[in-house]
Amino acid sequence: MIMWMEIQIKKCQNCKSQFTIEADDFGFYEKIHVPPPTFCPECRSQRRLAWRNDTTLYNKTCDLCQKPIVTIYSKESGITVYCNKCWWGDNWDPISYDQEYDFSRSFFEQFKELVLKVPHIALVNDDGIASVNCEYTQDFAFSKNCYMDFIGWKVENVMYTYYISAGKDIMDSMNIRSKNEWIYECIRGRNSYNIKYSQLCLACIDSQFLYDCNSCSDCFMCVNLRNKKYNFKNEQYSKEEYEKILESYKLDTFSGVETAQKEFDEFIKKYPRRYSTIFRSLNCSGDAISDSKNIKDCFNVKKSENCRWVCNADAPKDSYDLTIGGELSECYEGITSDHSSRNFFGIFSWKDQDVEYTQHCHSSQYLFGCAGIKNKKYCIFNKQYTKEEYENLRTKILEQMNSMPYKDKKGNVYKYGEFYPAELSPFGYNETVAPEHFPLKKEEAKQNGYNWQDNIQRTTGKETLKPENIPESIDEVEESILNEVLVCIDCKRNYKIVPNELIFYKKMKIPIPRRCFYCRHGARLKKRNPYKLWHRKCMQDGCKNEFETSYAPERPEIVYCEKCYQAEVY
Ligand SMILES: [Zn+2]
Ligand SMILES: [Zn+2]
Ligand SMILES: [Zn+2]
Ligand SMILES: [Zn+2]
Repeated sequence: MIMWMEIQIKKCQNCKSQFTIEADDFGFYEKIHVPPPTFCPECRSQRRLAWRNDTTLYNKTCDLCQKPIVTIYSKESGITVYCNKCWWGDNWDPISYDQEYDFSRSFFEQFKELVLKVPHIALVNDDGIASVNCEYTQDFAFSKNCYMDFIGWKVENVMYTYYISAGKDIMDSMNIRSKNEWIYECIRGRNSYNIKYSQLCLACIDSQFLYDCNSCSDCFMCVNLRNKKYNFKNEQYSKEEYEKILESYKLDTFSGVETAQKEFDEFIKKYPRRYSTIFRSLNCSGDAISDSKNIKDCFNVKKSENCRWVCNADAPKDSYDLTIGGELSECYEGITSDHSSRNFFGIFSWKDQDVEYTQHCHSSQYLFGCAGIKNKKYCIFNKQYTKEEYENLRTKILEQMNSMPYKDKKGNVYKYGEFYPAELSPFGYNETVAPEHFPLKKEEAKQNGYNWQDNIQRTTGKETLKPENIPESIDEVEESILNEVLVCIDCKRNYKIVPNELIFYKKMKIPIPRRCFYCRHGARLKKRNPYKLWHRKCMQDGCKNEFETSYAPERPEIVYCEKCYQAEVY
């Protein structure tokens, strides 16, 4: 029997603020047989993010073959780490770490012990399985020749990116989808070719410093343009005049790019922004949405239906509370639960059906509280059972989780249906992506029950080439730069240029970056709107339209409704 519930106001266990569970939400929880949440949406998101380390990396050795590796797990995490080859290989058996469920102790306490025993993959990718030459990528699949990329799939020759799907020859970019080629320093782009230093480009060619432009070619420092050629600062020029202007900015030099960037940032301020970018969609709220219907509070999703609180996902259906994921349905509270259905509380568990509380389990069905399992059915705490044994034991554990819940240091209670307590995460809050959305100082984080990592690895003081000695123009840079250790002008971290990177810079006429990847990535994150909505009014005089927007009311941008925005587009 389906219990039809009306809207309910609840008090968040964790932050004590009120949140609303709507009728549709109850419908979803009923359908997947989980109890309604006890944490508010923001606290749930923060808790998941505290389990996601995307970019904090450590040098280590594989605990099986002893080869040097790069991994997201620090020494302090206590996690056993295997290189990708060993982890995907047959020289270890996750079933050998099986544990008998102990009904005298809480589920989460026992699960933490299992997770600590079972070896983890150094970086989460399918290099050597479905990807080629993608060893140094995290949360990455189905790709070729990629390096230092975080979250992505189906790409080729890509470096230093964050959330990328489809495309090739792309560097230093974020949230890029749908067949882009030769892209550098861009945020959110589709079907574009040879674009640099731009944001929100659709089907643009041979251009630089664009914001929200569509079907433009040979444009420089333009905003809100459609079908234009040889435009500079939204003005039409002849081909010769345009080329002269472009030449004068010397974009092959570091100082030329810095000057152009400052000028562009100033220029775009006076142009209106659209309240949200929702394309070819019906009944959606959030931002960066395309080809979707009936989704709420979702950000950076495409081909999505009937979802809520889903961020950074391709084709999620009938799912709630996902922090990144692709091609999945009926999933709940997951971190990259790709190619799955009915995958609840999954962390990097791919190609699964009917699994609950799994971490790094793949191509499996009917798992409960498992880690590192591949191609299995009916396992609990990595122990193999028959179908009947599995079903009986699962029912008993669910009852026990409710009668003997885990309690965290703050006093929050975790019954069946809660995601993992943040205090059990193998990561310090400052190693994870949580501070991007919920910044906390060390003491605040600790007071709120999060871990903290005091030994984040970063190399400093080893530079062999000072920034002022790097040639201004990329044309003057010689191959010997590949042997040098550089130092970031902002954070003083050391970094190197790798061969494919230099080839890319030379071809695209891009000066050698004076900042490390982390500072470049951080600057891009600052340009992205938060994954949060505010109710606001259109700022065009006389317009009464209201909307949900990711532009906070105190922000300086001019924000228009779709109708008023379209009237301003050239
Ligand atoms: Zn809360
Ligand atoms: Zn190994
Ligand atoms: Zn830096
Ligand atoms: Zn308006």
